[in-house]
Amino acid sequence: MAVSEIDRLIELLARLPGLGPRSARRAVLHLIKKREALLLPLAAALAKAAETIRACGRCGNLDTQDPCVICRDQRRDPTVLCVVEEVADLWAIERSGAFGGRYHVLGGTLSALDGRGPEQLKVDGLVARARAPEVSEVILALSATVDGQTTGHYLSERLADSGVTVSRLAHGVPVGGELDYLDDGTLTAALKARRPADG
Ligand SMILES: [Zn+2]
Repeated sequence: MAVSEIDRLIELLARLPGLGPRSARRAVLHLIKKREALLLPLAAALAKAAETIRACGRCGNLDTQDPCVICRDQRRDPTVLCVVEEVADLWAIERSGAFGGRYHVLGGTLSALDGRGPEQLKVDGLVARARAPEVSEVILALSATVDGQTTGHYLSERLADSGVTVSRLAHGVPVGGELDYLDDGTLTAALKARRPADG
């Protein structure tokens, strides 16, 4: 591996969340030392992931099949949709084991600051899914940030005439917190004690 390729690898890894140039340099040296055990399997796994992982056309979850494994699972409750901002939030709720319905990944929140409006989020898809006859409840599992709450109000209005109950997570979700950082117990409690969303 030429030095420039090592630099390139360090530069790419340093862009990952939680890593900087220093951690990236350490990671790269470690990968090169563990060529057979780590570097080659990682390279193969990355290539495979890049080739096969797609967003589910129905819910936005990431999977190698579309519809994803959750949308295809007939044992899941078809009456409840849980709306989350990002796939990381979906994973967090799945880890908690507290929810047996299906999901809808918005792809973020409304944000005046970042210039993100409803058209940048998967809102129309959500409204269409909420109108399906089998769906009776939509749970808004959004962050307790200003943007998360603004998005919740907007979605409540958009879903008002769809005939479903719209609920939101109970308090216990820390202000400014993201679902991914919650422990399973807090998340489970917030889901169980969910309450009607105010329009
Ligand atoms: Zn799906």
